Amino acid sequence: MKLKAKLTVGIGFLFIVILVFGILGIVSITKLNGDADNILKNNYETLVYDNNMLKSLDELSFNKQALTDFETNLKKQESNITEYGEGDATKQLRYGFEGLKKNPIDTISFRQMRQAIQQINTLNQNAILRKHEAAQKAANSAIFWLTIIFSVLTIISFTLTINFPDVISTPVKALAKGITEIANKNYKNRIYLDQEDEFKELANAINTMAEKLDEYENSNLAKITFEKRRIETIINQMRDGIIGFDENKNILFLNVVSEKMLGLKEADISGQYAPDIALQNDLMRRLLKDEDQHELKIYADNKESYFNKDVLKVSNEGKVIGEVIVLRNITPFHELNEAKTNFIATVSHELKTPISSIKMSLQLLRSTTTGVLNEEQVLLIDSIKDDSNRLLKITGELLNMTQVETGNIQLNILSCSPYDILQYATEAVKVQADQKHITLALKAADALPSVKADKEKTAWVLINFLTNAIRYSPEKGEVTIEIYKKDNQVCFSVKDNGKGIEATYTSKIFNRYFQVPGTSKSGTGLGLAISKEFIEAQGGTIHLESKYGVGSNFYFYLMS
Ligand code: ADP
Repeated sequence: MKLKAKLTVGIGFLFIVILVFGILGIVSITKLNGDADNILKNNYETLVYDNNMLKSLDELSFNKQALTDFETNLKKQESNITEYGEGDATKQLRYGFEGLKKNPIDTISFRQMRQAIQQINTLNQNAILRKHEAAQKAANSAIFWLTIIFSVLTIISFTLTINFPDVISTPVKALAKGITEIANKNYKNRIYLDQEDEFKELANAINTMAEKLDEYENSNLAKITFEKRRIETIINQMRDGIIGFDENKNILFLNVVSEKMLGLKEADISGQYAPDIALQNDLMRRLLKDEDQHELKIYADNKESYFNKDVLKVSNEGKVIGEVIVLRNITPFHELNEAKTNFIATVSHELKTPISSIKMSLQLLRSTTTGVLNEEQVLLIDSIKDDSNRLLKITGELLNMTQVETGNIQLNILSCSPYDILQYATEAVKVQADQKHITLALKAADALPSVKADKEKTAWVLINFLTNAIRYSPEKGEVTIEIYKKDNQVCFSVKDNGKGIEATYTSKIFNRYFQVPGTSKSGTGLGLAISKEFIEAQGGTIHLESKYGVGSNFYFYLMS
């Protein structure tokens, strides 16, 4: 039965209960009221007339009005004949009365009339008794039936009151439970109701929804699993090592390359806390600790390989949820770089000897021992000499660079006088300075302590500073060379009033092959990079202060 029908039946039943009770009550009371009215009208009034007529009969002898009163009551009686036999008695009363009117002293009529009144009285009294009994019976019967109906209706109402709430609450509870299961992602759960109503329809709709959600979840899961496998395959096919961590540094995954590098299997360490693994594994320790170290030399698979380490933070909605370490295999580039360095070293070395002999031959030619040269020939020889000097400088820088790149800087650190280094360098650039009419201003503090340095390399750096200062200074400019003590260090500074260096380039100035855009390409861009390596290899520091359009100050510190 539908819920609507159930509600209609329940409420309809209550309506019928009220209706039946109302009708029954009204009918019973109306009937009892009618019976009482009948008794009053039919019989009680007759008794009143009879009494009045008897009274008038008694007063006939002395009251003339009595006859008239009698007739009035007799007429009322004649129009209120209700009982069997009452009509005959009334006729007899009329007959006696008519006789009495003709002969007022007729005692027979008198007696007949009294008897007739007596009879009418008796008939009506009996009728009152009879009707009272009938009314009592009707009242009893009404009470009986009302009690029966009341009892039956009470039982039915009581049963409904007990059972009806369950008709609604039981399925509502089942539905609520089913919906909670769905909310908890238990899409396999179904709602079963043993009734054919709207609740059943709702339960069926919810079951269908759960079925669809189940299908969706399964298809989604399959899709996600497929995607996961695809990504795993891609990661495993890569030549780079990839290791994933969650935000708490637990290992999430590692590909085949990183398995080989670490010498560990993903299945064994997946989900483990990386620092715990690092306790037993050197490479993991380096990967976790050396955040800034980008190039790693790793011995794995019976060979040395070079990897570039990139740490990628994985974030979601602005929150870091893990990181991925990518170890890019740069061994082929390393090998190529090594080949290049070796090639440059060999070529530079091989060029040095012929350039030196060219220089020597030029000197012989210039000294006129081989004959007198004309003015034009002298100019040509000077030009060739300049070029071979430059070539020698370049090959020297390239050779130094190869030493730096291979890590083969040969240092000969001794305690040396800063004055000696200063003198050596200034003498080396004197000719250059003179050519441009540049004054070299020397400011050397007194009693400077000796420094722990490789004299040759330190002088090389100072010469490089001076050569640049002279090159980038205007004709007749001034270059100041200063040495002074600062704390337990000695500072060597070269200041010029040249064009200076723009602030955007100062951070790159010590990079290999860097030249400020717009600079003549005659140099290599290696001088300052080599200077930095030489000074730092000796435990010193190198710096630049420059103001574009004002001049530059290159300086370094060495331990005294
Ligand atoms: P190179 O002089 O051979 O090009 P360096 O490493 O010695 O290489 O210098 C790199 C660059 O720095 C130069 O090309 C030049 O642009 C800039 N530079 C160096 N010294 C100065 C200086 N004193 N004034 C202005 N620019 C300079």
